[in-house]
Amino acid sequence: MSHIFPRHTAMRLPRAVKGEGSYIIDENGKRYLDASGGAAVSCLGHSNAMVRAALHAQLDEIAFAHTAYFTSAAAEELADALIEVAPEGLGRVYIVSSGSETTEAAIKLARQYHLEKGDSERSRIIARKQSYHGNTLGALSAGGNMWRREPFEPLLLDMSHIEPCYAYRYKGVHESLEDYGIRAANALENEILRVGPETVAAFMAEPVVGATMGAVPAAPGYFRRIREICDKYGVLLILDEVMCGMGRTGTLFASEAEHVRPDIVCIAKGLGAGYQPVGAMICSDEIYHAIEVGSGYFQHGHTYVGHPMAAAAALAVVKQLTSADMMPRINRSGEKLMALLRERFADHPHIGDIRGRGLFLGLELVWNRDTKEPFVPAVRLHARIKKNAFEHGLICYPMGGTIDGKHGDHVMLAPPFIVEDQQIEEIVDRLEQAINDSLSETGM
Ligand code: PLP
Repeated sequence: MSHIFPRHTAMRLPRAVKGEGSYIIDENGKRYLDASGGAAVSCLGHSNAMVRAALHAQLDEIAFAHTAYFTSAAAEELADALIEVAPEGLGRVYIVSSGSETTEAAIKLARQYHLEKGDSERSRIIARKQSYHGNTLGALSAGGNMWRREPFEPLLLDMSHIEPCYAYRYKGVHESLEDYGIRAANALENEILRVGPETVAAFMAEPVVGATMGAVPAAPGYFRRIREICDKYGVLLILDEVMCGMGRTGTLFASEAEHVRPDIVCIAKGLGAGYQPVGAMICSDEIYHAIEVGSGYFQHGHTYVGHPMAAAAALAVVKQLTSADMMPRINRSGEKLMALLRERFADHPHIGDIRGRGLFLGLELVWNRDTKEPFVPAVRLHARIKKNAFEHGLICYPMGGTIDGKHGDHVMLAPPFIVEDQQIEEIVDRLEQAINDSLSETGM
């Protein structure tokens, strides 16, 4: 009996002993097709030769040197490689160990930027309902994921949460997607005016929402309108691409598809592809310049900032993600997966929505397709799908969300970019079995 502190105290999980391409193998030799990479982490599969070689080489040179004294070639090269492909205007990379650390750093950098500019009143972060930005207290305060927030509510910072851009639920019947996108974005302007523009530091959002709704892209034009509003009121735009970035949605940065220029972008998960815990907060030259000519010191830091092993792994990942054939491959596989999901589930009585971009796709399950009424929480449909899929040797990412204060069931798929066509078919077959098994357990 191990003394490890498990995620759920009553759960007895199998030991993962080997990773092979798109598969994880457990201690009993059972093979699991990994269609979610944990939560969109393992973008290069589980045995990538280039990352392994980069890690061995880094370990032979130096594993760790504190950034109070040293920089490292791995961290410098990673920063340069990211800036070469990052959205225009971004110029500096702050390397940390997780997604939550990137959003925490972004919140503090936004505040400090305004302070350096003499705008000391600006500290408020506006984010969105049904979002997830991490589990540390600042990140959790920004997130709008109610069940994660509730126990810790007294500890959380006062932030604003506007409605998300969620066309399946909130677009009017006679409204165009574009009109809905503008209307949804205008909620930001209303909130800025309500709290006072002079108090707002930044707006934070996921370009494609992941962990709370299962791969929901914004309506066309939403983020362009958001950018206009941010510019009008001097508010920074922080895009949290921790889950949807690094090629996951078919462009290296998810914001590329939105044609907007963020002030700060957060990436993690796919950046290290699971080989190292690593994240990066990338900020504009303008923000960096304000610090440089101001206090000269970002009032933040962790022991493992710029860790050479993490940077070496991430650099090997970025080199592969920026190879000429990677984005076309992601888009081709994503289209195949989407087509199969539509073929199999478009007429399913309990699948209300099939959505996503690139290899980041989601299904929303509903009790009634016409009214979009969700299943009652007691059914725990998402948990049943997770269990049944796992039994069928499929790892996917079902989640219980909150819709208008009610419960919702979503399944997210984020297979590795190396996924093969025949594996895509297997993913859909096994998922269909798991969903149908789960529905029949509940008497549907
Ligand atoms: N931001 C987003 C959009 C995420 O999806 C997550 C994790 O799921 C985080 C932040 C937090 O990342 P981490 O779990 O690495 O702290």
